[in-house]
Amino acid sequence: MGELDEQRRARVVAVHKNRWQLAIESEGSQVEVSAVLSGRFRHEADGPAGLPVVGDWVTAVWTGGGNARILAIEPRTGLLARKRPGDTAHDAVVEQAIAANVDVGLVAMGVDNDFNVHRLERYLTLVWDCGATPVVVLTKSDLATPADLGDRTADVEAIAFGTRTIVTSARTGEGVAHLRSALVPGTCAVLLGSSGVGKSSLLNALAGADLQDVTAVRQFDGKGRHTTTSRRLVELPWGAYLVDTPGLRELQLWGDAESLTASFSDVEDLAAECRFTDCVHDAEPGCAVRAAVAEGSLAPARLESWRRLRRELAHVARRRDAGAARAERQRWKSIAKQRRQHNRERRS
Ligand code: GDP
Ligand code: ZN
Repeated sequence: MGELDEQRRARVVAVHKNRWQLAIESEGSQVEVSAVLSGRFRHEADGPAGLPVVGDWVTAVWTGGGNARILAIEPRTGLLARKRPGDTAHDAVVEQAIAANVDVGLVAMGVDNDFNVHRLERYLTLVWDCGATPVVVLTKSDLATPADLGDRTADVEAIAFGTRTIVTSARTGEGVAHLRSALVPGTCAVLLGSSGVGKSSLLNALAGADLQDVTAVRQFDGKGRHTTTSRRLVELPWGAYLVDTPGLRELQLWGDAESLTASFSDVEDLAAECRFTDCVHDAEPGCAVRAAVAEGSLAPARLESWRRLRRELAHVARRRDAGAARAERQRWKSIAKQRRQHNRERRS
């Protein structure tokens, strides 16, 4: 495992309370050690955001047995983080790190009733935010008719310009080889998607039966309940890495204005032609976006999605306290309800 006090490069594969699990190359194979932070590092780390997360490369020294001490984190290519409202006015938004140095973001979405274009847009935004390349993975293709599948694929293509889409079924094995080829040896991917969308099944289909054990991240918390909040970096049999994110269920927040631009390049390109640079494409004169909708070159739903996501981003930024947040949520809920009702009435 190397000499005592020898500095080595290692990768964080799991994070526990005050302990980090590191993988290190040793004589041609991977060994894992349990590490703590050096006193100086802990002292200098800039709050929780400065602590090592899954996927981080760190410099560590062995301290004997299966133990090590982390001295430093290497600069990250990107950080996959979820933003959530803070508990105090001082921390209006808290960033919760999920994984560092992610190359590919696999966004899993069922072709059954899990499918939701708005959620997909948010996931894409999140992936772009962390500097990774998104790949849309449609799951449970066996549950859809070929016509449904065509519709879903078209939906994805309409919002995810040029983003690779892979249609899969863990049940029939469709698309599994295709998905495997998207996971290049040496790169790191993260699998995102709602609970029940089929991520675990897909992982098992991808990796074979072995992975189940490796990703057995369920742990017992203090009250003896299963918790599934820990994340783990696993190595797939062909040398690609994958961050398993069982706790990543309700992604509420979502990135910043820059990534909004990336996932709405059609709207943003048009917006560049608006008369006012801060046009929100509402009632402003000389709005190129509304003009495009009027003449049929931009789908009204796209503008609606853009507005919705923009509202959500503003919403996160605005949430100063829990009370206001709750009231706001109620307000949006009733607006959404009215809109649904309105749409229903229009259709009937
Ligand atoms: P996860 O929560 O995203 O990890 O989802 P799971 O992999 O646990 O799957 C949730 C449910 O969907 C389970 O009942 C699976 O049997 C089912 N499921 C997963 N993949 C498929 C699939 O390709 N086709 C069908 N019909 N069901 C699937
Ligand atoms: Zn405009």
